Amino acid sequence: MLSVEEARERILSYFERLPAENVPLTEALGQVLAEDMVAGFNIPPLPNSAMDGYAVRKADVTDASTESPVELEVIRTVAAGELPDRPVVQGTAIRIMTGAPVPDGADAVVPFEDTDELERRKDSGAQSRIGIHLAAEHLENIRDAGEDVQQGETVLSSGQILRSGELGVVASLGFDAVSAFRRPVVAIVSTGDELLQPGEEHQPGKIYNSNAYSIASMVTKYGGQPRIMGIAKDTIESLQAALDEAMDADLVVTSAGVSKGDYDVVKDVLSSKGEIALWSVRMRPAKPLAFGVLERSDGKKVPHLGLPGNPVSAMVAFEQFGRSALRKMMGKPDRAKSSVQAIMDDPVTNHDGRRVYARVQVYTDESGQYRARSTGNQSSGVLRSMALANGLAICPDDIGMIDAGEIATVEMLDWPDDIF
Ligand code: AMP
Ligand code: MG
Repeated sequence: MLSVEEARERILSYFERLPAENVPLTEALGQVLAEDMVAGFNIPPLPNSAMDGYAVRKADVTDASTESPVELEVIRTVAAGELPDRPVVQGTAIRIMTGAPVPDGADAVVPFEDTDELERRKDSGAQSRIGIHLAAEHLENIRDAGEDVQQGETVLSSGQILRSGELGVVASLGFDAVSAFRRPVVAIVSTGDELLQPGEEHQPGKIYNSNAYSIASMVTKYGGQPRIMGIAKDTIESLQAALDEAMDADLVVTSAGVSKGDYDVVKDVLSSKGEIALWSVRMRPAKPLAFGVLERSDGKKVPHLGLPGNPVSAMVAFEQFGRSALRKMMGKPDRAKSSVQAIMDDPVTNHDGRRVYARVQVYTDESGQYRARSTGNQSSGVLRSMALANGLAICPDDIGMIDAGEIATVEMLDWPDDIF
């Protein structure tokens, strides 16, 4: 039996980074930059004010205090986005807004609150003169040109994962789109004679196809584009037809049909088609796992991940293998899921040497310590305990039990950093 890591490594050897494409900034969150971004200009473009206030000559206000204000003539107001059309000369000031370019001649900005502007407004509304209450330091409240980014500087490098900060930087360089490695298209084929599509009328003895939806949402979460392909019957012909339709994708995911039952045809189809691996992975849930490469009529090869049918197994297997495959196709380094160390409220037992992923709810106790409680029935068919869980507590394959009160590593299911 393969360990989770061995299975993941084998699977990843079949994947490559996808080509880059141009992506609008609003759609690029979580994608990987495929080019260096070089600044074509300084940011900020000109020295500008960090405060709303008065641009002054420091030499004019050296003796200013609340008791004996220095009075200056106000010759202009300059707002952000405007260019000052005259300099500050001795005895004058220009009223300036945050972000507005600092006029020539000025070497400091005195904020409104260090002037008598409020009183003057109350008195007359006129502001042809202003009293300065405070001496200013050289360049006080002035942001330098290029303080954030210098022209010609490489601001972001190829390979960088685009988070909100990076997307803002790209926009500040003036670009509304970015070259990023393409999102993988993932076709999802559900197999099973017992399956109904959600929305269809309930029928005795049938169950709804939940796997397609839990898997599709995980594809979206990890940056891919899911295509739900519908349901194949448990016959070689039906599955073959469904796979033929799915083969335009970058990855085909099937659910069910990989165990040892009479109607488990996924493995039969895969073994009739070139490379196939059918593995037992040392994990619980999700021991049976198929992986192979489908070949299209034009010779193009498409990786195929055959997930187990049990709804929790399908999800846990996708978290462990599908997630890493998507990351690689998107150009991201493989990295472990975010995890915490939590004190277990309930034991996790491992009775056959497989790594156990137990569904738990992680919470913080009064002392700030992470704790984890079981979300109930751990059968691989019980999807509700997955829905109630925010993490999977791990009992390693070589440890028989993590008892209540002991610490376990818990992989978090819904931490947002997982998508980067
Ligand atoms: P199998 O791998 O075909 O033996 O299926 C294992 C279990 O998973 C059976 O109880 C199936 O009914 C269930 N199952 C298979 N496919 C799905 C699906 N798409 N949605 C929900 N449950 C499924
Ligand atoms: Mg079946």
